[in-house]
Amino acid sequence: MDEYSGIRELKGIGEKAEKTFGKVGVHTVGELLHYYPRGYEVYEDPVTVGELEEGRTMTVSGAIYGRVQVGGSPKMQITTLYLKDLTGTLKVVWFRMPFLRNTFARGGVVTLRGRIVCKKEGLVMEHPEIFYPSIKYEEKRASLQPVYPLTNGLTNNAVLKAMKQAAESVDLGDGILPEALRKEYGLAGYGEAIRGIHFPKTKEEFYHARERLVFEEFLLFILSLRMLKEQEDRVLNPYCFKEQEKIGEFLKKLPYELTDAQKSVWREIRQDMTGIHVMSRLVQGDVGSGKTVVALLAMLFAGVNGCQAAMMAPTEVLARQHFENIRRMLSEYEIPLHTELLTGSMTAKEKKEAYARISSGEAQLIIGTHALIQEKVAYQRLALVVTDEQHRFGVKQREALAGKGEYPHILVMSATPIPRTLAIILYGDLDISVIKELPKNRLPIKNCVVDTGYRNTAYQFMKKQILSGRQCYIICPMVEESDSLEVENVTDYTEIVKETMGRGITVSCLHGKMKEAQKDEIMEKFARNEIQILVSTTVIEVGIDVPNASVIMIENAERFGLAQLHQLRGRVGRGGHQSYCIFMSASKSKETRERLEILNHSNDGFFIAGEDLRLRGPGDLFGIRQSGILDFRLGDVFQDSKILKNASEAAKALLEEDSKLTDPKNSQLKKALEHVVAKNALETTL
Ligand code: ADP
Ligand code: MG
Repeated sequence: MDEYSGIRELKGIGEKAEKTFGKVGVHTVGELLHYYPRGYEVYEDPVTVGELEEGRTMTVSGAIYGRVQVGGSPKMQITTLYLKDLTGTLKVVWFRMPFLRNTFARGGVVTLRGRIVCKKEGLVMEHPEIFYPSIKYEEKRASLQPVYPLTNGLTNNAVLKAMKQAAESVDLGDGILPEALRKEYGLAGYGEAIRGIHFPKTKEEFYHARERLVFEEFLLFILSLRMLKEQEDRVLNPYCFKEQEKIGEFLKKLPYELTDAQKSVWREIRQDMTGIHVMSRLVQGDVGSGKTVVALLAMLFAGVNGCQAAMMAPTEVLARQHFENIRRMLSEYEIPLHTELLTGSMTAKEKKEAYARISSGEAQLIIGTHALIQEKVAYQRLALVVTDEQHRFGVKQREALAGKGEYPHILVMSATPIPRTLAIILYGDLDISVIKELPKNRLPIKNCVVDTGYRNTAYQFMKKQILSGRQCYIICPMVEESDSLEVENVTDYTEIVKETMGRGITVSCLHGKMKEAQKDEIMEKFARNEIQILVSTTVIEVGIDVPNASVIMIENAERFGLAQLHQLRGRVGRGGHQSYCIFMSASKSKETRERLEILNHSNDGFFIAGEDLRLRGPGDLFGIRQSGILDFRLGDVFQDSKILKNASEAAKALLEEDSKLTDPKNSQLKKALEHVVAKNALETTL
């Protein structure tokens, strides 16, 4: 049996089990071995009856007191045992296991591990796992027992049994890492790692095993990225852009002066675009730091030099906003460039017309969503592609857009605060610029964390702000009626707000289930201040820019990650007005309070990201997980950044020595890599 054998070859796995395992993506023995536990249970030292606590799963040892009884109804037989030690007597029950009666001898010593519940008669242990005679517990004591992700019909025991068999009967060999490399980084052997991840005897064993597997994951990822890119050498810049007066005029007409950070990034971009090689640049900057105008400058630069530039945004609402803004600025500043919008919700006729203008070159600055990379779109002379809010896209989408041009300049905008070292690895081929400061006219947002008792006061506060000319957002998390047990329903909620605000204040709601056209209409009205309060779900999370909005109130703040809250908060404080963010939460838990306090005291995205990580462990950090590119089975690019760095180094060294991985010692690695690349290709729906 080897890793490529079907799991039917394992004893006890028939057609039915095969199907069930299939549901979780396990078809071969190798896939089974890489089906990692989602956690571990620790078999702690037994405690005394007196030390038991309600609500916990605990282990207790004692003598069997009296006779074991079977009662209850024929349908639900209940077996009852009393266990006694020096500190007290505990009632223990099992359901539907009458045969247990004959298992135990009176006075025998038994160890039981189960959940403690509180009943009328006091603490009761329900349906525990039995170690009898007691000595049997010793085998498990202090060990970590794997807990697997399960699905209907798949039990933990079934996975465990199959896993044990597989781990014992497959010759695991060296795995994909060349021996020298493994030694260099002090990693566990392959068999050791696989056994260690499933059946670690100690925490140390687990860490050691995990390190190796994470290293492997990262290494494959980095190598496959390199393979996707293939062209190792930078492409020569085929465009000869000249400095143009128009750009200077545009800058003069802007209602503000660029910040120093914006200026220096713009200088870098200009140097790139007029340099020897094609630009590949990532621009990072916190929410509201003014990334859009920098991207726009680059687009103008391409436009006035007779080329096309395209900008891809993750949502239609955002694409339309960019489009409207850019079009307005160009006409105000009398820059004769034609802008074009292309989104999925446009009618077939509209799209056809847009395609025609794009392919004829009439459209010069093209703004849109994924629609920009559809097959039917052909560009005439695409010299620059910009992706806004990069973390919402995968590498493949970015590349698909670039593939629309000959060798266009690439500019990637992101608010995701990834540490520089990490960014270098993940966006290996990109140069990185950071916009470190916010525009000078900004006042720091004032924050507060309150409970729902404060809601009315908050409404009154918003009313005042609106009377002085401002606008407000209120964030409700869910729309569906069914989800509204604890969560305010957005539509009902909007009605309540309307009533509270009274006449003269227009309140509208916005949610993801609306038609795009309807969303756009509402957003445009909000931008024109025809709507004063926008009650919305998180659809406004990224990018939306209405500088006149000065208050955002976030209901059920406890439901969001810190990073997401920071993005939401970034919708205000985008102009010169003092802005406010109200985090509303009914939760009294200490953890929630502690999390929200971080936001209360800081407006700095990089700091918050770090704290988020410290508190929650890696989660949906700044939505970065949604991109799919950073979804590893075991590894976490933040927590395991050191392993990531090592893997990156190793990848570099490997390719320097053996660029096509043809050396026999790299054969296993090459095979695995081809598998990964093939899988990626399959998943690409483009
Ligand atoms: P983000 O970096 O979050 O994408 P935007 O580019 O949307 O931010 O900019 C936020 C707001 O700040 C916009 O209304 C924009 O017009 C404004 N802005 C950008 N740069 C400056 C600046 N240098 N001075 C003042 N306001 C600016
Ligand atoms: Mg933006």
